[in-house]
Amino acid sequence: MTSSAPLGVNLEWFTPGCPCCIEEVGLGNGPLPEPTAGKHRHPILDPNESLRNESTQCQYCYKNKETGVTFFRCSACMIDFYCSKECQKKAWPSHKEDCKRKSRVPKDENNPTRRLQRFTGRHRPVLADSAVRALNLSVDINRSLDFVLAIFLRRRDSQKPETSYFATGADVLPLEAFPPEQCTEMKAMVRKVDEDHKKGGMDGGLLVLLMCLDDGVINIAPAGFSREHFYPPGTPWKELLMAHLNEGVAN
Ligand SMILES: [Zn+2]
Ligand SMILES: [Zn+2]
Ligand SMILES: [Zn+2]
Repeated sequence: MTSSAPLGVNLEWFTPGCPCCIEEVGLGNGPLPEPTAGKHRHPILDPNESLRNESTQCQYCYKNKETGVTFFRCSACMIDFYCSKECQKKAWPSHKEDCKRKSRVPKDENNPTRRLQRFTGRHRPVLADSAVRALNLSVDINRSLDFVLAIFLRRRDSQKPETSYFATGADVLPLEAFPPEQCTEMKAMVRKVDEDHKKGGMDGGLLVLLMCLDDGVINIAPAGFSREHFYPPGTPWKELLMAHLNEGVAN
């Protein structure tokens, strides 16, 4: 079984569930890790339970529903939410390319690529924040151009996009670790993402790669960052990321 290539990045060498391939992507050898029940909720037992943290957020200002605002979706991709036309306008330079990619995927909620894109959209703030820590951007801001935060997921039977996967692992991978063709594509992509976010007033852009180990579907999500939200070098990130993705625990 080969992975699909929703975004032009085709990890044909990766066979979902194969221990040697999983080792290759940095999860260690042996069988796929089993989900662990969270401390605060049991997403595996009841994936339809809401995440604690409201995960419908404006993709520009990250306001959530609790603030009482109403949201609308980008009419092209129907994935990204905004709280106002103003936020949508400000987000456009950095959303444009991502929107094009998302719009190419059939708007069928059972389409595996679309499913993963929707999951990603719901968790974007924590993905962006974790990537800033994981990539150690405070040490060298240009690390975003050479490394990617890779998150490994398994499918979960849920009607809600935010709980439709659970994370089993995450690692920082150098782009050079990918086969040459993919490496070149991802380098070009991150440079464009970086440029677009700078145009949008941020300090740069980065990539987060999400891979479903069950079906091999990959989503490469762009995110922007600002220096004012940097962390001291070596700030832990993995445990927090897992807790957010799997349990919806805020802070
Ligand atoms: Zn293999
Ligand atoms: Zn907003
Ligand atoms: Zn869009």
